[in-house]
Amino acid sequence: MATQAAARSQEAAEIQEERLSPSQSVLETVVESAGRLQLNSDVVGLLSTCWREQRAQLPVRMDDRKLHIFEGYRIQHNGARGPYKGGVRFHPKADIDEVRALAMLMTYKCALMDLPFGGAKGGVMCDPTRMSPTELNRLTRTYTQHIGSMLGIARDIPAPDMGTNAQTMAWMMDAYGQKYGYTPGIVTGKPVELGGSYGRDQATGRGVAICMRQYARHEGTNPADIRVVIQGYGNVGSWTARIASAFGFKIVGVSDVKGGIHDADGLNIAEIDKWFSVAGSVAGFLGATPVTNEQLLELDCDYLVPAALGEVITASNAPHVKARVVVEAANHPVTPSGDRVLAERNVQLLPDVLINAGGVTVSYFEWTQNIQQFRWSLDRVNEELESRMVERFTEVMARAARDGIRPRQAAFDVAVERVARAILLRGFV
Ligand code: NAD
Repeated sequence: MATQAAARSQEAAEIQEERLSPSQSVLETVVESAGRLQLNSDVVGLLSTCWREQRAQLPVRMDDRKLHIFEGYRIQHNGARGPYKGGVRFHPKADIDEVRALAMLMTYKCALMDLPFGGAKGGVMCDPTRMSPTELNRLTRTYTQHIGSMLGIARDIPAPDMGTNAQTMAWMMDAYGQKYGYTPGIVTGKPVELGGSYGRDQATGRGVAICMRQYARHEGTNPADIRVVIQGYGNVGSWTARIASAFGFKIVGVSDVKGGIHDADGLNIAEIDKWFSVAGSVAGFLGATPVTNEQLLELDCDYLVPAALGEVITASNAPHVKARVVVEAANHPVTPSGDRVLAERNVQLLPDVLINAGGVTVSYFEWTQNIQQFRWSLDRVNEELESRMVERFTEVMARAARDGIRPRQAAFDVAVERVARAILLRGFV
């Protein structure tokens, strides 16, 4: 064991992991695209920074009556194509650069999906798993008050992300409404009872599973022959598992923050859901082999789906990934140097801006429904989502084939081109 660990740390030292910040990582990909697209330097300059970055001090009285001062952000990257759109993350690591990187990704995700939105993101550095509902309610309201002037249905529309959910959006909508009047379209991902869209909760995972199925068709394989490992069993990971399993994929490994489980013959997702509802984790599920999150990423499988945190596949562990295809369900789960190692090893990578765009696509449907004051059926939401995901997937793969580039580069080329065109048409430079 000790020799194996020493060999791996030696190997890791030999592979130079570039220590780029999250926003530098995104920017590197954008600058590469700008070079292929021969964009002028004014446009690149505009895309390299964010339009507006708001940092807020958030004092919250905790249940024990002590005052805790949290730090929160709302960052608007680029609004050339429409109002800013992006989730709010509650996580101890949601620092300003992480939020900036996620705001940039939203600009390109919305452009790739051809949605009439720019890109933004919000974050509060906190651990929601250690806070009571009343503390989370107070924190959400304080955060909304501090960033309220940046928001508006034609300005900036938040949504849930890691550590936040439909309840968080209900509190945000209510806090905003107390000052500006009843405005359901101010957030998406709300509870259905408050004007949320049917299908929004499962939309990101459904989009991931649709792309997996399209890729299986693209490579001429049958889902039943494809072994899938998923890291993260929150909103995105669990819905990906359920829908991919319904499409016939064989899910052989899943995990969450407490650990993972593996069964080479396939896991029963319905049974795992039952276990999860009692245990609050997939870890400990009987009838499967326990694995750590590190081991999970290196399991023998066909498709590896990181659906939890960013930067989990790096130059150090990319040489040990056994999957043929990495499906980026989380935002930037693969570092640029990890990506290079995967490319050298001919591991296909399906990029986050495409793969997890189902969530923002149904958020767009929700916003549209709120403006029209008209609710769509679940079937209509799922049909529209599927047709958009398939269309964009086909566009990215065709562009990659035409230009002899990887799908991530192709997705960014399409997106950056659209944003640059809007910048020029609107006369920003
Ligand atoms: P979530 O909070 O619902 O779930 C996160 C999951 O990751 C949980 O199962 C948690 O236990 C697990 N996790 C946390 N730390 C971990 C660790 N160190 N190792 C392994 N697992 C860990 O979050 P979510 O909404 O499912 O988001 C997951 C990812 O997908 C994020 O990168 C997010 O930005 C991205 N994303 C989410 C949406 C959406 O609609 N929710 C849309 C697009 C992208």
